Amino acid sequence: MGEQTINLSKVKGEFKKKVEEMLPEGNFNLCLACGTCSAGCPATGLEGLDPRKFLRMILLGLEEEAISSPWVWMCSMCQRCIYACPMQIDIPGLVYEARATWPREERPKGIRGSCDMALKHDTCSAMGASEEDWRFVVEDVLEEVQETQPQFKDLQAPIDKEGAEFFLNQNSREPVTEAEEMVPLWKILHVVGADWTYGSKGWGAENYCMFLADDEAWEHIVRVKVKAVEDLKCKVWLNTE
Ligand code: SF4
Ligand code: SF4
Repeated sequence: MGEQTINLSKVKGEFKKKVEEMLPEGNFNLCLACGTCSAGCPATGLEGLDPRKFLRMILLGLEEEAISSPWVWMCSMCQRCIYACPMQIDIPGLVYEARATWPREERPKGIRGSCDMALKHDTCSAMGASEEDWRFVVEDVLEEVQETQPQFKDLQAPIDKEGAEFFLNQNSREPVTEAEEMVPLWKILHVVGADWTYGSKGWGAENYCMFLADDEAWEHIVRVKVKAVEDLKCKVWLNTE
């Protein structure tokens, strides 16, 4: 991840306009410089920045430096700063807009790659797992548990069960790299008698396209997932991420 090659002066005016729209009453001076946002931020200190400094740089006309800092990719979008801020300033929203100014091909490879993988199949798996791969792994792991753990011989891990109450998403990494990690949740749902299902589509829980600040791809992923839930007529969408 390097410095942006984009001519930042071209996006500078546009970015500042978006920032003004996002700040309460469009007022830059609402920030009290109290630093409460930075105190609980997991990205504080990385690349010599923190949310307060990031905002202050924009206020002081240093938005080119703020936008182009790799720090904008270190914000986890956890939103702690918004809750802590006495003025409810939407720092992650500003970070998102800063990310969106980067040319897509210069955004971090890991996040970009995971977004692109999720766009490959309607599974939305950030690891690029197809519907066939997904079904094979779930059925294989389930069979092994049923055969080796007598107390769970009736365990179920349904896929595409129409009308189930809960539609469950799954972290994309688990079926690919640590499939047995899916089992504890199946057992909990079994013990409490929950009526649940996975979808063959839309089960990937993450949305790296959001973290990539790719609006179009982000929307596509959400729409695929919503459609999967609606097609199965499930009442509740459970996303564990
Ligand atoms: S949303 Fe970003 S800036 Fe705010 S606390 Fe979380 S990591 Fe820090
Ligand atoms: S918590 Fe809010 S008011 Fe205080 S420095 Fe951070 S953004 Fe400014």
